[in-house]
Amino acid sequence: MGGIMPDGTFVIVGAGLTGAKAAETLREEGFAGRIVLIGEEIERPYERPPLSKGFLLGAEPRDKAHVHDAEWYGEHDVELRLGVAVDALDAAAHVVRLAGGERIGYDRALLATGAAPRRLDVPGARLQGIHYLRTMADAAALKQALVHGGRRVVVAGAGWIGLETAAAARAHGNEVTVIEPEPVPLHRSVGPEIGGMFADLHRDNGVDLRLEQGVAGFWGAGQVSAAVTSGGAEVPADVVIVGIGVRPNTGLAEGAGLEVSDGILVDRSLRTSDADVFAAGDVANAYNPLLGRRIRVEHWANALNGGPAAARAMLGREVVYDRVPYFFSDQFDLGMEMSGVASPGEYDEVVYRGDRGSGEFVAFWLSGGRVVAGMNVNVWDVTGDVQELIRSGRPVDAARLADPGVPLADLR
Ligand code: FAD
Ligand code: NAP
Repeated sequence: MGGIMPDGTFVIVGAGLTGAKAAETLREEGFAGRIVLIGEEIERPYERPPLSKGFLLGAEPRDKAHVHDAEWYGEHDVELRLGVAVDALDAAAHVVRLAGGERIGYDRALLATGAAPRRLDVPGARLQGIHYLRTMADAAALKQALVHGGRRVVVAGAGWIGLETAAAARAHGNEVTVIEPEPVPLHRSVGPEIGGMFADLHRDNGVDLRLEQGVAGFWGAGQVSAAVTSGGAEVPADVVIVGIGVRPNTGLAEGAGLEVSDGILVDRSLRTSDADVFAAGDVANAYNPLLGRRIRVEHWANALNGGPAAARAMLGREVVYDRVPYFFSDQFDLGMEMSGVASPGEYDEVVYRGDRGSGEFVAFWLSGGRVVAGMNVNVWDVTGDVQELIRSGRPVDAARLADPGVPLADLR
């Protein structure tokens, strides 16, 4: 095993996927000390991806999302404290304070506080029928609003939440309008080329996509009845879903005087500016040696892998967290996986392997002839090869990259 394995008390703040996986890893790695996992939600740790897909579609029961069985925590001697927020971290004293005043001392702490939805600050934003989607409770309320069909649904934001919930709302037989300020959906995540593909997908499935306009406000008497676009159009609405991005929950870290800038700043081993405090998951802005810069990743795989990496670092192990960012999405009949970073400005060319029109292909984003990102669309079992191409950083021949007859493994 190697490394230092301190005994004592490890406190994990935030009982989401990052926190739960960190607790699991501490025990797997043989940590015999006290583990306290504290979460503000009343639900034991769960994964969020089903909330906008299987659960919302009615295809998956809510319990399937939980990270562990209820008994797992007792069996592994993990003290799970739910329904209570940590409201202060005193890094010098090595103490966290819970709402209500209880204080828990720690030897090492992990901040896995995740992120919270950005709120639309426009007239009418507090009317009934306007939904956000982050928690199981949010998802249950939204499902109730969509499941009967025949409603007029307006979605603010054509990001991941907006598009996935638009697809679920259509599947339940609702009319759906999506309003997005950028020229294509997902512009910041995938750029105009693949963003355009998502626009076609949604239009082909009956979504009214209003691009290059934001939501200026809502009308209604108690209950929302219409959204007003920045272009002045009034769109009737019985249900509104707002998915305009998230903000990392950095309040505790700021209060503790840790370095924060678009997330809690951590090094390659997920250690904050305080040697005994670590951060991982959506809240962490981590130095990724593969990319040669910091990045804050707001996706499931980063919680799944970042929690365990932070746990090992807390135990004194040598950790270099240099994962290729990865995520997946399902919308209508499109399933995809994406590796790497493809924001506009990060690439100069997009190369397709397979026919884009067929709906089964792999898109590669290149910068200076090197693959920086790849998305497999309705094509499976290629993620390992795509990630190796990104990781190798070698220039590739675009014609061979586009040729499905050339194994991807031969290109790296
Ligand atoms: P969170 O999941 O945000 O968990 C943090 C927890 O900490 C929360 O429960 C919060 O209440 C708690 N907390 C915060 N502050 C405190 C405090 N002071 N004291 C105590 N507790 C606190 N990613 C994908 O890759 N693919 C997908 O398909 C996908 N689908 C998604 C669908 C939805 C609806 C949502 C909302 C997200 C989706 N994501 C997806 C993103 C993914 O779920 C997140 O990246 C992941 O949840 C991050 O995990 P986390 O544990 O770091 O943070
Ligand atoms: P997101 O993916 O960041 O997308 C937000 C979208 O809303 C962007 O296109 C944004 O445009 C737009 N927007 C911003 N302000 C707006 C306004 N005033 N009116 C209309 N649109 C506006 O965030 P999200 O979709 O809300 O998702 C929340 C979090 O959950 C993210 O962390 C996301 O990664 C995660 N999630 C992931 C998945 C997945 O991986 N499959 C699925 C669901 C959720 P700009 O880019 O110009 O700001």
